[in-house]
Amino acid sequence: MTPHVFDLHAHSWFSDGQLSPTALMERAASNGAECIALTDHDTLAGLQEAAQAAQQYGIHFIPGVEFSTSWHGTTLHILGLNIQASSTFLNYAIETNQTTRIERAQKIALELEKAGFPHAWEKTQRYARSIDCITRTHFAQFLMEHKVAPSLKGVYRHYLLPGKPGYVETTWISLSDTIRAIQEANGLAVLAHPGRYSLSNAARRRLLDEFAALGGHGIEVMTPNHSPEHIRYFSEQCIRLGLKASAGSDFHSTEESRIDIGRIYSPPSHLSMIWDNWFPH
Ligand code: AMP
Ligand code: MN
Ligand code: MN
Ligand code: MN
Repeated sequence: MTPHVFDLHAHSWFSDGQLSPTALMERAASNGAECIALTDHDTLAGLQEAAQAAQQYGIHFIPGVEFSTSWHGTTLHILGLNIQASSTFLNYAIETNQTTRIERAQKIALELEKAGFPHAWEKTQRYARSIDCITRTHFAQFLMEHKVAPSLKGVYRHYLLPGKPGYVETTWISLSDTIRAIQEANGLAVLAHPGRYSLSNAARRRLLDEFAALGGHGIEVMTPNHSPEHIRYFSEQCIRLGLKASAGSDFHSTEESRIDIGRIYSPPSHLSMIWDNWFPH
């Protein structure tokens, strides 16, 4: 049966989500989702388990990943959807980011220890499933132990954002390498949560032009923090650049996420959807 309820952005505990891939798929199915992508940060570790679980719960599964990407000094997130996980170039790109991640995590830990939080490295690792993916979310969880702020958001604001003690400047793989890695894996590159980057209007337009010129496929028009104006603007950009529209809850956990897995609305129906060719009639 052709699915109608899509959610193409979600995290398991293999990156900074709270649920196992199996629990995530179970939750998606009980929320009425019909097609789900798992898109952990810079890792493919959860895909096999998620695919099996999706089959068990009767939903279509799309293997994905969320790449961290550097573009003129700004960190962007690019989703690779419907990727072939065995692709050599894809795996090489992911390993490059994983090395960057570990080095960054060690630096963040050192900075936090200097700022008065002992054993930041050992203690933060306890929140991560694997050394391959230690995120700022895990540092935020560690800092919560010290009751530095009432919420994760507050912890970010005081410790993990630019200018704060636990922020470390990082260079991820480039936008062109990211898109190329996704293409080599026969996947579709989607610019994640485009309303979230702090860019001027001119820079945002340059990003969209460059993304399309490099072979990017789609824009995540529907994401929890997008206002009606964002949705209108990015819908127009899809049409201007011939890009497809995508939708994702970016679900991490019930505490952290505004929209539950499977509960994101689809993009405006006049747009071409990123999933249009996945299920031929
Ligand atoms: P990283 O890729 O390690 O820099 O971690 C980024 C992750 O931290 C994002 O994917 C979000 O899940 C989370 N995050 C980033 N900024 C914030 C914020 N201001 N408040 C809460 N969570 C955030
Ligand atoms: Mn995250
Ligand atoms: Mn993201
Ligand atoms: Mn995400």
